Amino acid sequence: MQKNSPIQLSKSTFCLLGHTNIGVIENNDELILIDSGLNSEDAAQIDEVLKNSFNKKIGTIINTHSNADHAGGNNYFSNKYNCKIFATKKEAAFLENPYLESALMWGAHPFDKIRTKYFECEKSTATNLANENSEIKLNNELTIEFISLPGHFIDMIGVLVTDQNTKTVFLGDSIFGAQMISKYNICYMINVTDFKNTLDKISNIKSDFYIPSHSTIVTSQEELKRLSIMNKNEIEKIQNFLLELCKSQMQNDDILAKVFETYHIRTTPSQLVLIGSTIKNHLTDLYINNKIEMICNDGRMYWKTK
Ligand SMILES: [Zn+2]
Repeated sequence: MQKNSPIQLSKSTFCLLGHTNIGVIENNDELILIDSGLNSEDAAQIDEVLKNSFNKKIGTIINTHSNADHAGGNNYFSNKYNCKIFATKKEAAFLENPYLESALMWGAHPFDKIRTKYFECEKSTATNLANENSEIKLNNELTIEFISLPGHFIDMIGVLVTDQNTKTVFLGDSIFGAQMISKYNICYMINVTDFKNTLDKISNIKSDFYIPSHSTIVTSQEELKRLSIMNKNEIEKIQNFLLELCKSQMQNDDILAKVFETYHIRTTPSQLVLIGSTIKNHLTDLYINNKIEMICNDGRMYWKTK
């Protein structure tokens, strides 16, 4: 699926555009990857493209977070190159135990229809922990810094690369592209409050290139700020819809059915689980912000707009 050649952003910094964008940093005779593709099959294609362009071994993978579309290729690269894998402590727990993600999505021990390649990636082990504000100085002209970007997932990080005088920041899923928003409307986020704070944080980063994982390259801070506003507006739209819906009290499954009907979402087990989790996360955010109340009655959980 990753068939494009890497795009050169500065002397040693490249981006491989695909269903998940992959960062590539040339460091002497090795490459550093930012994220690794969905699974071994995907990673083999990425490997082939990189072999044709660089012919260097993969020395390090930095995972922005542990979701399968970002970390599913770790296993392939680690088996082939014995490379280092950097991740934050909490995301590393998911890499080591991919079961946790499908269990989190389902909220119980997951069954086969939930345990898809999108929810449960191939197991891998982080060899190094990445922390906010820690950096790797590769040489006098090339530095990598980690930036904490929680919200989409529990402990996601961004990667800021300073290459001579050019800065590129790989943003993971801290911001979604216009195309993705108009296609899916309801994008996954585990903590909506964190997601909004992270949007503010990335809007203040001064960089030459901004790389969201599922969008085209953003080339100015103004453009990133506009995209950030678009992401916030979409959150507000969903939350206003929920507040309108819950003017008369509604229970979880009825709210979800209305969301599927209104947004024309195909009813499949994985969509029910993914969108269901996202809607619950929005209800949590509305509850925390005192806009909605939760009522438990007759063996059901109801939500009512205040
Ligand atoms: Zn993603």
